[in-house]
Amino acid sequence: MADRQRIVTRFAPSPTGYLHIGGARTALFNWLYARGAQAAPGSQFLLRIEDTDRARHNADAVKAITDGLTWLGLDWDGEPISQFERAERHAEAVRSLLDTGHAYRCWLAGDELEAARQTARDSNTRFTSPWRDHTGPTPDGPYSVRLKAPLEGHTVLQDKVQGEVSFPNHALDDMVLLRSDGTPTYMLAVVVDDHDMGVTHVIRGDDHLINGGRQKQLFDALGWDLPIFSHIPLIHGEDGKKLSKRHGALGVEAYRDQGYLPEGVMNGLLRLGWSHGDDEIIPREQALKLFDLGGITKSAARLDPEKMAATNAYYLQQMEDGAFIDGGVKFLPKGPSDAQMERLYRGAPQLKERCRLLSDLPDAAAYLLAARPLDITGKAAKPLKQGGADIILKDISNRLGAIGSWQATVIDQELQDYAAERSLSFGKIGPPIRAAVTGGHPSPGLGNTLYALGKEETLARLADQI
Ligand code: GLU
Repeated sequence: MADRQRIVTRFAPSPTGYLHIGGARTALFNWLYARGAQAAPGSQFLLRIEDTDRARHNADAVKAITDGLTWLGLDWDGEPISQFERAERHAEAVRSLLDTGHAYRCWLAGDELEAARQTARDSNTRFTSPWRDHTGPTPDGPYSVRLKAPLEGHTVLQDKVQGEVSFPNHALDDMVLLRSDGTPTYMLAVVVDDHDMGVTHVIRGDDHLINGGRQKQLFDALGWDLPIFSHIPLIHGEDGKKLSKRHGALGVEAYRDQGYLPEGVMNGLLRLGWSHGDDEIIPREQALKLFDLGGITKSAARLDPEKMAATNAYYLQQMEDGAFIDGGVKFLPKGPSDAQMERLYRGAPQLKERCRLLSDLPDAAAYLLAARPLDITGKAAKPLKQGGADIILKDISNRLGAIGSWQATVIDQELQDYAAERSLSFGKIGPPIRAAVTGGHPSPGLGNTLYALGKEETLARLADQI
C-alpha cells in the first residue's frame, strides 16, 4: 500500500453558469486524490468559487456548479469558499509584501502604461515599471501594487505531470497584485487562498501552467510553502482541437439530460487523461484505490462520444431493474400508464441490453408501449399476410389463453409444442406472432416479449389481428 499523506486539494471553478466537462474532470481528479488510497485521515477536497469578477457572480451560477458536482457524487468538505469575500485578506497579504519590499506601488496607468508596454514589446525586452525602484516623493492618486519579481535567472516549477518547467524571469513581468481600485487580481487571490486553505496539491488544466510560474514567484515572495502542482493536459475534441461548443455537450448537465449516468460520466472522465494499464471500466471504488498523479497522461485526451456512451452502457447494465426503468421513463414524451409501467418493469432485463443511455429506453421499449390496435404497415405487416397466419394466431391465442403461469420459459415451451404438434418450423409460427404483438418494433426473444407484455395485452394484441 502506498504511503499515506495528508492531502488537501481544491476545485476552483469560475461561476460560468454550468459545470464544464473539463472542469468536472479536474474536480474528479482532485476529489479522487483527496479521498483515495494515498490520502491519510484528515485529507480534504475543498470547493472555492473564483468569483472575484463580481459581474459574473450569481447564486444560480454557483448552484449550477454544486448541482453538477453533487450529481457526479463528488462531495466537498465544508462550505464552498467565495474568493470575492476574502478580498480584505488578499489586500492584507499585499501590505505584508509592501512591508518586506517584495512589492511596490505603481502609478503607471492608462495610455502611459500601454505605451511603456508597447516599447517593451517593440524592443523585445521585459516590461518593467519605472516605479519599481523609485525612491522619494510619490504622487497622490490611485496606484496599483505590483510584485517585485526577479529580473534574472529562472523560475522553476517541479510539476508532477509536466516535469521540470523553467520560466526565464525576463519573460515574467511584475504582475499586478492589487488593481488601482484596490481589488485583488486573480493571481494574488489564488495564491493567498491556496495558502490559507492549506492546499497541498494543485491539480488543474495546463492552461494554467504559466500562471503556475507566476504563482511560484508570489509564494516565494510571501515566504510560503509551495503546493505540489499537477497541470493536466486539456481535453480535446475528436478532431484534436481544443474542446468547444461545436464538439457537442460541454456542460455536465447536458450529459445528464442526454441520459448519461453519473457513474458513466465519471468513468469516462477518469479515462480522459488518466490511465491504469488498458483498463476502460474503472468503477468509483476501484478508482479511489488506484488513482495517483503518476497515471495522468501527458498528452491531450480526446473526448470520444462513442466511447463515453459505451462506458455508460456498462453502468446501465449494472443498475437495478426498477431504477433503470424509473430513470428511463423520464425520457418518454408522456408519462406511462400503470399497465405500461408493469410491462417496462417485466421487460427491464432485456431492455437494458438494448440501451447505452437512459434516453435509449423509449426506442428500446416501443414494442411494449405501442397503443392498441397496433398500427402495422409495410414490411412489418408481411408475416401477417402469409398463408396460414390467421390460423396460427388463433391457435396460439387459444393455447396461450390456457397457460396458468405466465413465464417466458413456459410461453416459449408452449410455442415450441405447438410448432411440433403442427409439424411447423418455429421460423413459420414466430414471425406472424411477433408481427401481431410488436407491430414490427424491435423486441427480444418471443418468450420474453410476451412475458413482458403480459397475458392480457398479448391476447388483446393477437385478437386485434385475427
Ligand atoms: N478558476 C480557474 C479556472 O476556472 C482555476 C484556477 C486554479 O485552479 O488555480 O480555470
